[in-house]
Amino acid sequence: MSSNRLPGQPYIAYHGDELFVEEANLSALAQQFGTPLFVYSKASMLAALAAYQRGFVGRQVQICYALKANSTLGVIQLFAQAGCGFDVVSLGELTRVLAAGGQASRIIFSGVGKTRAEMRAALQAGIGCFNVESEAELEVLNEVALSLGRQAPVSIRVNPNVDPQTHPYISTGLKGNKFGIAHERVVQTYQHAAALPGLSIQGIDCHIGSQITQEAPYLDAMERLLDLVQAIEATGVPIHHIDLGGGLGIDYNGETPPEAEQLWHKLLAKLDARGFGKRSLMIEPGRSLVGNAGMCVTEVLYLKPGEQKNFLIVDAAMNDLPRPAMYQAYHRIVPVKARSAPSETWEVVGPICESGDWIGHERDLSVQQGDLLAVLSAGAYCMSMASNYNTRNRAAEVLVDGAQTHLIRERESYADQMRLEHLTVATDAQKR
Ligand SMILES: *Cc1c(COP(=O)(O)O)cnc(C)c1O
Repeated sequence: MSSNRLPGQPYIAYHGDELFVEEANLSALAQQFGTPLFVYSKASMLAALAAYQRGFVGRQVQICYALKANSTLGVIQLFAQAGCGFDVVSLGELTRVLAAGGQASRIIFSGVGKTRAEMRAALQAGIGCFNVESEAELEVLNEVALSLGRQAPVSIRVNPNVDPQTHPYISTGLKGNKFGIAHERVVQTYQHAAALPGLSIQGIDCHIGSQITQEAPYLDAMERLLDLVQAIEATGVPIHHIDLGGGLGIDYNGETPPEAEQLWHKLLAKLDARGFGKRSLMIEPGRSLVGNAGMCVTEVLYLKPGEQKNFLIVDAAMNDLPRPAMYQAYHRIVPVKARSAPSETWEVVGPICESGDWIGHERDLSVQQGDLLAVLSAGAYCMSMASNYNTRNRAAEVLVDGAQTHLIRERESYADQMRLEHLTVATDAQKR
């Protein structure tokens, strides 16, 4: 049997004409669990993590998986077991980490809009650090901590004003967006924070954007962060850790982001050169750990050839795969069972009543009604962004480990969707 790997996808391959994730046959998984179905490779996630770990050998680094990329408990558990900490952006995410067995002390809490209730719960849980994003938030966190008789560990997120050269919606480190403290105000903000009795300053952090495919923005951000650390420490405020955030991109369609290991060799060389080699580090990768480990398997419902365009209507939609509609994002789409017939060009669309419900434009595929397709690179920012629009049940998720498969999320039911709703008066059927 010939084996044929897909570009950028070391754990997904055709054996003969059938697509496999590790040793699991995708047609069989779709048969067993139905479609649309998210399928993840455990080995792929661990390999992505290992690339960072290799880059950090001999250093003091905490890798905090940013679980907004994929916050399913089974995925969190895998990273907790592999020794990761976590970057959370809500109390909901914090609750998930604890439910999956993650350690509170390895959680960092990011985000521009933490509520008092979230701060209180996070302090009581004993999280490792708050990444504070504004001066107003520092005041509130100070108050909340004092009301509990504690000190909140804090790091201040700074906006280094570097252009990550990515999509504007996922660029976060430039002037004029809502994240972090402006470069010019950082030193005085640290001095102010150091004077607040409810806060204990731990570090400095930045996160410049997402799907970054070049080294330069990271090197620039590191340079600017180190300048700030020097300026802050010159005022007598020690900075224990430096957190460079996440954002490393993946290959969706031939992009060539730096490999985590190589990128960190360069970043660490810069740290060493500037005398910060012994400083503790943190990073917050999300997409680069899970994005290419996942796919969404979908069934072709109808072929609808037209005069101008041919539509291929599949059973996954923008509620399952929101990235194309949100960011004009590209996902490779490949057949689960390859056909030898010549291909045609299709607009791959979902069943939702929106023209924005598309999954791929102008894709060359040889397909028939009832075939299965795999939408690749769907491990990050798909299921975690999924919705119930059009009262569609959210998909099931399977984690593949060699030949073993674990159902890590059951397909939602209509009863699940309606559970929290109330009619204003009883229906006739209920009265009877
Ligand atoms: C989203 C986010 C991350 C992770 O970004 P990726 O692009 O998925 O690596 C890390 N840190 C913060 C603060 C974030 O908001």
